Amino acid sequence: MPWLASKAWPTSRPTSRPLLKSTSPPLQRHLHLAPPFLLDDYTPRYQLLSLLEASRKRSAAYAHLKNCNLCPRRCGVNRWETTGVCLIGAETAKVNVIAPHFGEEPCIQGHNGSGSVFFSGCNLRCVFCQNHDIAHQRNGFDATPEELAGWYMKLQDVGKVHNINLITPEHVVPQVVLSVLHAKDMGLRLPIVWTKASSKRLLKAEDYASAAMESIKAMHAQVGDLCFTPDGIAKKGLLLRHLVMPGKETEGQEIMRWLGDNISRDIFVNIMEQYHPDAHVGKPSRSSRPPSGLGSMQESSGSDPGGGPLSNSSARYSEINRTVTGEEISSVRTAAEHAGLWRFCDPVRHDGFNL
Ligand code: SF4
Repeated sequence: MPWLASKAWPTSRPTSRPLLKSTSPPLQRHLHLAPPFLLDDYTPRYQLLSLLEASRKRSAAYAHLKNCNLCPRRCGVNRWETTGVCLIGAETAKVNVIAPHFGEEPCIQGHNGSGSVFFSGCNLRCVFCQNHDIAHQRNGFDATPEELAGWYMKLQDVGKVHNINLITPEHVVPQVVLSVLHAKDMGLRLPIVWTKASSKRLLKAEDYASAAMESIKAMHAQVGDLCFTPDGIAKKGLLLRHLVMPGKETEGQEIMRWLGDNISRDIFVNIMEQYHPDAHVGKPSRSSRPPSGLGSMQESSGSDPGGGPLSNSSARYSEINRTVTGEEISSVRTAAEHAGLWRFCDPVRHDGFNL
């Protein structure tokens, strides 16, 4: 589920609602687990597909591979013969880690963890990627759709996880569709979490913001607002993560207003504060790199060519080479509340489990 923003993000609001000038606090609501967000029961949609519908979905997914347009890169390559930017072919997906994961929101990870499948070869190449070692560096193993389905079943039957969480799978949608349909026939009953990332101008994909906005609209139109069963576990709907970036709080505020105006004021939002410089951020700029042979060691040690600490001005993407401040996080949260949003991923105020 998305992190977003962009060059193309609207800079003016489509309605005349006041920005942060209102002195009256926004209306407080606290009924996350009440109708209409409470489900009596839940059956995954893939379990309801007929044989014909399943076969159509397989064909539609695989049709994209001959002239690949699965992500905003739109490479147009035939992945049966070659690869595009993601460097992943047509028959397998590259997987870095498959395991119960306890780093998700409480309503996703529950008590037993989220059955996470981290795919390698993310197509976005965000310069600040917070999962750089997994997503960018094509480490891991190749898995066929049938092998993936076997892993889902182990996560369900042995790990007792609450869902199958597919993390950055956009570039392997056909393989993933096939794996879910295969696992359906093997008895998979868990909800599928589709964790996709999107970001803005600091990611290396042109026009990604408009694509991100369209995809959020499409996802919300398909699954609606986040709904839970009475055990507090999310079963269907959209959970939107927004990673607050240093110095970008104005864009974060604008995104919150866009969500309230264009998606839903009942959208469930996790305003994330854990940004840290990673990937290319803070590495020595090309002009300040030492002669070859010294670079890799000094890059990893964060030292300049003379051996001293790397100054922020000589670091790449120096404007985001720091963590975020409490004020930046609060300003995004305040903007969200003033935009009418009220369903946030907050710690519980009682002493019980965070569910
Ligand atoms: S999925 Fe890969 S090949 Fe297809 S458009 Fe995206 S980057 Fe290119």
